[in-house]
Amino acid sequence: MAARLAHIRGRMATAAQRAGRDPAGIALLPVSKTFGEAAIREAAALGLHRLGENKVQEMRSKAGPLADCGIDWVMIGHLQTNKARDIARIAAEVQSLDRVELAVALDRRLQLEGRTMDVLLQVKTSTEPSKYGIAPDELTAFARRIAREMPMLRVRGLMTLAINMPEPAAVRACFRTLREWRDRLRADAIEGIDMQRLSMGMSGDFEIAIEEGATEVRIGTAIFGRRPYGDDYYWPEGPARK
Ligand SMILES: *Cc1c(COP(=O)(O)O)cnc(C)c1O
Repeated sequence: MAARLAHIRGRMATAAQRAGRDPAGIALLPVSKTFGEAAIREAAALGLHRLGENKVQEMRSKAGPLADCGIDWVMIGHLQTNKARDIARIAAEVQSLDRVELAVALDRRLQLEGRTMDVLLQVKTSTEPSKYGIAPDELTAFARRIAREMPMLRVRGLMTLAINMPEPAAVRACFRTLREWRDRLRADAIEGIDMQRLSMGMSGDFEIAIEEGATEVRIGTAIFGRRPYGDDYYWPEGPARK
C-alpha cells in the first residue's frame, strides 16, 4: 500500500504541475469501502486518517473497532433520509448531500448531537440515469435554503461523479461543469456559504479532474487494490465500473 500511495501522490503532483497548479492545493481522500480492518489499519499507519465510505452501515461497523485509529469518516455515497441519525453521530463530513429532504433531516439530527458538519453538495454533471445529484440549475436555490434554514450544515463546495465513459473529453466536460458552477455560486456570495472545494476524480480519471480544478480526489482501487466484485455489487446506484 505504501508503494501504491507514493505512486498516486506522484501522479497527482505531475498532473498538478501540468496544469500549473500547486500540488499542495489538492487533497487525497482514500476510499476504503469494502476493505476491512487490516487494510484500514495499514492505511492509518501510513498517515491516512480521513477515509471515504459509501454505505452508512459499513461505516458504522468499521468506526467502532477502529476507534483507536482516529479516523475521520467521510460519507460519499447515496444516503437514505432515515440514515441521518447515524451520519450525524459517526461521519466527520458528508460529500453526497443531494436533496432538501436529506439536508433537513441531517440538520435536525446534528442539532440533537450539538454539532455542525462540513458538507459538499453532490451535483449531477452527466446525463447518465443512474447518477444521483442535484441538477445544476437547482444548486443556487438549494444552497440559499441551507444557508437560511439549516444552521448546522456548513457548505464547503461541490462533489460529482463523472460520466462512466472511455472518452476523456466527456469525462472532462463533467469536471468542467462542476468547476463552472462552483465559480458561479462563489460569485453569488451567499452569506454563510464558503464555496471553495471541488471533490472530483477517482482512480480512473483523477488526473483529468486535477487539470480541471479538483481540490480533492477520491481514490479507492488505486490505493487499496481491486474490490472483489464489480462496483455494481456494492454500489448499485453508481456507474458500473469493473
Ligand atoms: C468507490 C468510490 C470512489 C473511488 O473509486 P475508485 O475507482 O475505486 O477509485 C470515488 N467516489 C465515490 C463516490 C465512490 O463510491
